[in-house]
Amino acid sequence: MKTLKIAIQKSGRLNEKSVELLKNCGLNFENYKSSLISPVSNFPLEILFLRDDDIPEYVQDGIADLGIVGENVIQETEVEVSYLQKLGFGKCSLKIAVPNNTNIETVADLNGRSIATTYPVILKKHLQELNIDADIRTISGSVEISPGLGLADAICDLVSTGGTLKSNGLKAFSDVMSSEAVLIGRKGSENEDLIQELIQRIQSVLRAKETKYVVLNVLKDNLEAVIALLPGVKSPSVVPLAEADWVAVHTVIPERDFWDRISQLKQAGAQGIVVMPIEKIIL
Ligand code: ATP
Ligand code: ZN
Repeated sequence: MKTLKIAIQKSGRLNEKSVELLKNCGLNFENYKSSLISPVSNFPLEILFLRDDDIPEYVQDGIADLGIVGENVIQETEVEVSYLQKLGFGKCSLKIAVPNNTNIETVADLNGRSIATTYPVILKKHLQELNIDADIRTISGSVEISPGLGLADAICDLVSTGGTLKSNGLKAFSDVMSSEAVLIGRKGSENEDLIQELIQRIQSVLRAKETKYVVLNVLKDNLEAVIALLPGVKSPSVVPLAEADWVAVHTVIPERDFWDRISQLKQAGAQGIVVMPIEKIIL
């Protein structure tokens, strides 16, 4: 069996979360900032630390079997790779933004204007779909300062909170694409079994992140009402307590509607609610 290779960002916005995800999968490796390759001691895997822009091609060409990279980078590099799993971090949007005092008001107003970006491939396709003929100025960084310097009428750049736009006197104008970090793989890799094993580990960590383990006490009389509020994942465990009228209920609750659910449970008679993080959920 060959050693699997996974490429992750060496430093930058995706590095820390990528390392954390792999460590949470139980993979044991050193995260030296200076090294390009780090072997995993308890799984046949090597971790390659690369610039994010190089990751899709490394995966396409088979130098790495897997990669963790933003969807925006994959689309921009136009490579042939398989999307294996969305990872839920590195969320951002590629947006067109204009100066606060602009006279660009509708999408049609972009006709004949210049737009600075580090994402010319994605922007070109987007403008073609909208039938807009604008001048794309490809630059390699600090896109947000180009309208102020008179280099472009608008920009197309990644935005998460919008703070950078604001501090450069810009406002978001329209959305081009939304993006998050994804696990990618090569079509037809010979390491399919190991890849599947790793994907399952990653999915068990992601599932656990989306849920909390909850233990609560309830009077037997109120048990039915409490159970009716609990979501799927088979039925909850009901455990007797020393006090005969009471039971403890053990269950998992999705993070997204957590607080709503907890207040409903309290109203239905749940007491002494203890909430714990979950490390992994293996189905
Ligand atoms: P590298 O040195 O690896 O080339 P980089 O400077 O191109 O790094 P980063 O700024 O570290 O890249 O961003 C990596 C990825 O993080 C982006 O491609 C994008 O998918 C994601 N991301 C999330 N939020 C943001 C944001 N606010 N701005 C830019 N990228 C973001
Ligand atoms: Zn990059």
